[in-house]
Amino acid sequence: MKQLVLASSNPGKLREFEALLAPLGIEVVPQARLGVPEADEPHVTFVENALAKARNASRHARLPALADDSGICAAALGGEPGVHSARFAGDPRSDERNNERLVALLRGEADRRAHFYCVVVLVRHAEDPEPLIAEGRWQGEVADTPRGSGGFGYDPYFHVTELGLRAAELDPRQKNAISHRGKALRRLLALLREEE
Ligand code: IMP
Repeated sequence: MKQLVLASSNPGKLREFEALLAPLGIEVVPQARLGVPEADEPHVTFVENALAKARNASRHARLPALADDSGICAAALGGEPGVHSARFAGDPRSDERNNERLVALLRGEADRRAHFYCVVVLVRHAEDPEPLIAEGRWQGEVADTPRGSGGFGYDPYFHVTELGLRAAELDPRQKNAISHRGKALRRLLALLREEE
């Protein structure tokens, strides 16, 4: 497999997937470049949304497709924003307003635990009956104030406890080595290798 359509228009995710897949000689083509319309994400589970995105991209682009669905899940909020992470503060999507809402909901809350979750799905074609599916989690805490300028989304507020740093303070390689997306993709690649 030399070329994949990536079922996402999020530039932050695209950068991370490119860095993870380039060493394997796999070219990641963002779906927007191929004129693929964004899929709806109406489901209550990450995996259903990722499958819907992957199938949609593969159908339109006529290529194998890689999709991820991901989000941040705060323990004190019963796992929210979860699948609603991208539009937590409504439309249009805004990382700044999403972060403001998350921090406001956790104001005064002692339990700051949260994890990022990511599921990645690879379909070889739109009707692939055996999609490859892998997941990854990244435990941390939600801080009250932002730090760092890297990454995207909730990264400035995601405190990586064992490093004493926010996700946005990690360089891309450090983040990919320990993040939910890095873990999920490495597991997916292991599944791919098992198939060879
Ligand atoms: P999706 O594109 O529907 O999967 O939405 C994922 C949303 O979760 C993004 O828009 C971000 O708000 C958040 N998110 C997922 N992964 C990360 C990450 O690595 N850092 C920060 N925010 C993330």
